[in-house]
Amino acid sequence: MRYMEESKEIKLVGISASPGICIGKAYLVGREGVDVIKKYSISGKNLDKEIKRFKLAVKKTKDELHGIIENSPEDFRQNANILETHALLLKDKMLYGSTIETIENERVNAEWALKMVVSKIKMMFEGMSDDYFRERGSDIVHVSDRIMRNLVGQEQVNIGGINKRVILVAHDLSPAQTSQIQLERIMGFITERGGKASHTGIIAQTLEIPAVLGLGKQFGIIQHDDIIIVDGSEGAVIVSPSDETLIRYEEKIEQYETHKANLTREAHLPAITLDNITLNIMGNIELPEEVVSVLDYGGDGIGLYRTEFQYLSKPEFPTEMELFEKYKDVVDVMGGKPITIRTLDINGDKAISQGNGTIEINPALGLRAIRYCLKKPDIFMTQLRAILRVAAYGNVRILFPLISGVEEIMEAKRLLCEAAESLHRDGVVFNKDFEVGVMIEVPSAVIMADTLAKEVDFFSIGTNDLIQYSLAIDRGNFEVAHMYQPLHPAILRMLKHVADIAQKNHLKLYICGEMASEPLYVPLLLAMGFGELSMNPQSIPIVKRMVRSISLEDCKQFLKQVLKPTEIAIINDMVQEKYGKLLSQKIYSE
Ligand code: PEP
Ligand code: MG
Repeated sequence: MRYMEESKEIKLVGISASPGICIGKAYLVGREGVDVIKKYSISGKNLDKEIKRFKLAVKKTKDELHGIIENSPEDFRQNANILETHALLLKDKMLYGSTIETIENERVNAEWALKMVVSKIKMMFEGMSDDYFRERGSDIVHVSDRIMRNLVGQEQVNIGGINKRVILVAHDLSPAQTSQIQLERIMGFITERGGKASHTGIIAQTLEIPAVLGLGKQFGIIQHDDIIIVDGSEGAVIVSPSDETLIRYEEKIEQYETHKANLTREAHLPAITLDNITLNIMGNIELPEEVVSVLDYGGDGIGLYRTEFQYLSKPEFPTEMELFEKYKDVVDVMGGKPITIRTLDINGDKAISQGNGTIEINPALGLRAIRYCLKKPDIFMTQLRAILRVAAYGNVRILFPLISGVEEIMEAKRLLCEAAESLHRDGVVFNKDFEVGVMIEVPSAVIMADTLAKEVDFFSIGTNDLIQYSLAIDRGNFEVAHMYQPLHPAILRMLKHVADIAQKNHLKLYICGEMASEPLYVPLLLAMGFGELSMNPQSIPIVKRMVRSISLEDCKQFLKQVLKPTEIAIINDMVQEKYGKLLSQKIYSE
């Protein structure tokens, strides 16, 4: 006799990272983006085969490393030594010898043996006080990651290899992994970690994949092949939904699609306030391919082109020609519309595979963005030359990230001039007559805004990092995600301060952090004097709709009121009460 199984529907709540809803089967992947490493026994007669499989993966890794070294451009040569060291480490007794021994002695699969050996090595090196040894430890970990990818790649699947429509469930996804997601295969994704404004979430929005991040411990409930609903708009995940829930969500999907279609239909209307003030609503992109969606959603230009993804997806640095060609694709599609090319903002949470293997204890405060570029002028120069060249073909601006003081912008500008001179000497077509801006995303830049204003044509406020650094909230950490509050009075005062300085110095004032994509914040930004708001492309239509529903005068009066309270909750309530009704935030009820 069969019993009707009782529905075991479970609702999990995480961070709403990318809107939309999907229903599908869970596909669990591990921390490295490959299937969770499982332990299994190897019989005596198959041990040799298993060791051979490990050796093959090591050989493949060695070939890969040599391939990178040989094909790397001139300005990458300095890093070649590190890769050569990595190639030598492949046969290191501690790694190579011990893994083979573990396979033999414990009769386990190569992945498991490697994992065990590496965690022992990690523990051993982490406890050492000598920098040299710690670095050697991180080199070994780096090399073992490559071997692991090759091992797993031979028999199991990785993100790129998933061949059915699934919902990706991962402990964590790096921005580089997220950008490799194939839209036709992945319907949505869920992670244990990740916080508000993390780059992983930002990419999910650009890809228009519903995503819920930062599920924390609840994450463990989800099993491979479970039927799940991802409600990216509400930040909810429903595991094993009942029939009623499934029907309710099918309806929600329909309503969401209708809402999106309505918004998209009006996306091409300009963003003009009731009292005739025009705002430019721009798109943020990570990859040149995304430029089309900026136009489709009615964007007036690119307010932030995050160029680092070209460096994340390949093991070697891109050449000047490769960069130029990618930038040219964007320029060609955008016609005369402005394109703000931000120089390389790698590291932080966007570690590059070409790194020197050093694991930074505090990457957000480490060798990131402009700091990295100024330390590696050759790599920076390659990008600057590509930007100067493409500026001859379109309406380009340059934007320098993570500026913390005036010396950095002066040095960056000096290198920009040097790059222009070198192009002139080489007789290559270029244009250096374009707007130069700094991102205001470090608190010291807010304080020094009056000095920075003398050096540039525009400010672009990066609220994602400004909030992270000012409130000391790791933007990628779900534990503190509830404290990540754009309407914190400290943030509002900083924005107002920078806006006043921009106005006094006749500087253009833009914003490209996620804060710009929240329609409820738009009245405040308008009142402060922002002329351009840039955001993930799919938010453009709703923000434009908000602009068309408000007037500058009214917003200015309201801003005065909002700057008075000192409690975040009161400010949030004031904003919700005043502007919430203009836009039905519950988009499902449209
Ligand atoms: C920001 O920090 O607000 C920003 C736009 O840059 P990113 O998110 O790439 O750090
Ligand atoms: Mg930033």
